Amino acid sequence: MPETALPAHFSRDPDGGLMIEQVEARLVAERFGTPTYVYSRAAIEAAFTSLTDAFGERAHRICYAVKANSNIGILHLLARLGAGFDIVSFGELARVQAAGGDPAKVVFSGVGKSAEEIRGALAAGIGCLNVESEAELHRIADIAGEMDTKAPISLRVNPDVDARTHPYISTGLKDNKFGVAIDEALPLYEWAHAQPALEIIGIDCHIGSQLTDVSPFSAAAERVMALTHQLAERGIRLKHLDLGGGLGIRYTDESPPAAADWVEAITSVVDADPLGRELPIWIEPGRFLVGPAGAMLTRVEYLKPGSHKSFAIVDAAMNDLMRPALYGSDMAIVPAGRGTGERHPGTWEIVGPICETGDFLGHEREMTLGEDDLLTVLGAGAYGFSMASNYNTRPRAAEILIDGTNCHEIRQREPLESLWALEKLPPAGD
Ligand SMILES: *Cc1c(COP(=O)(O)O)cnc(C)c1O
Repeated sequence: MPETALPAHFSRDPDGGLMIEQVEARLVAERFGTPTYVYSRAAIEAAFTSLTDAFGERAHRICYAVKANSNIGILHLLARLGAGFDIVSFGELARVQAAGGDPAKVVFSGVGKSAEEIRGALAAGIGCLNVESEAELHRIADIAGEMDTKAPISLRVNPDVDARTHPYISTGLKDNKFGVAIDEALPLYEWAHAQPALEIIGIDCHIGSQLTDVSPFSAAAERVMALTHQLAERGIRLKHLDLGGGLGIRYTDESPPAAADWVEAITSVVDADPLGRELPIWIEPGRFLVGPAGAMLTRVEYLKPGSHKSFAIVDAAMNDLMRPALYGSDMAIVPAGRGTGERHPGTWEIVGPICETGDFLGHEREMTLGEDDLLTVLGAGAYGFSMASNYNTRPRAAEILIDGTNCHEIRQREPLESLWALEKLPPAGD
């Protein structure tokens, strides 16, 4: 089998070991243990720059979707590159601030913002609240009124476009819980326009994740532009268009568009319109910026060959990387360094130690493996660590940012005691 192509900034050393920038995966594993997430700083920067270059002089803002990878080291890197942020909880706003990000460049999405979250976001000087329902719009108006402030808002409209992606990550169809149906948005905007505590600044949509085709983006942009015209006719002038995230990446054999194609799909629609031409375009990519930049290192604990199925049991599990178990995602798993064990060719189920049949990282992988071998799951920079849990009382992995020849530990492996530090024994009964 030909080897899976490695993402940019990952390569092979002459002995076949994996390199992340100028650092050997083997050395990272020896120094920090496994499982461990590694991220290439250069890859994150290159992804960000590919988008800003594609926009060129065109007014735009790139709001990184924090939920893809919320480590403050990564947020700091992106803030320094000039990114804004898309958040879905007050906790994510606090992280952005801890990382040195500017709340004025943050958009707050999510269907269930609590009163406390809205209050906290307004107090912090949030850039925009992306409103997902009529009830939320009323709540925001009330809270901003009480606080004697003006809440900057966009309505998240649901353009009813099929993103043709996994049903769990498709969000722009009219039967999804997200946003308001685009044909019901007009009266809400008119109501908001009349509220002294609300300032309408834009319109927003986000149609799904891991899109590998630009056409749903253009279709969404067209519908959003049509509504923008209807609003202008009623004297409601928007200050930006936010077309969301969802830019797909290559996990195995996908061929996603390049940054320039994504941007062209949007600008060709928006800029063809005299009204659109004046409006800054905002986007909210998560996966695209950090996914290919990250990988998870794991070590083979045991080989369990069988006549029906052969298992390679590794030290990472579904709690460390949930995508395969949650979405049935196919992620590339490649050798990263030879161990000490005797090597066996085979077709392996790559599984973790957790007591769940759903605990797998990959099915039917043709590889020659030995115990103690180091493996790497590629494309794990997004929705990897950020979805990790402590199921089975497993401490979450370390996270290492690689920068040239340097390794920065941006999150240490969780100490075991911290897992129950907030728990208490009940008083002794009598
Ligand atoms: C998750 C999410 C994103 C980012 O999606 P990606 O597929 O990672 O680009 C952007 N906007 C909103 C509202 C989201 O919920």
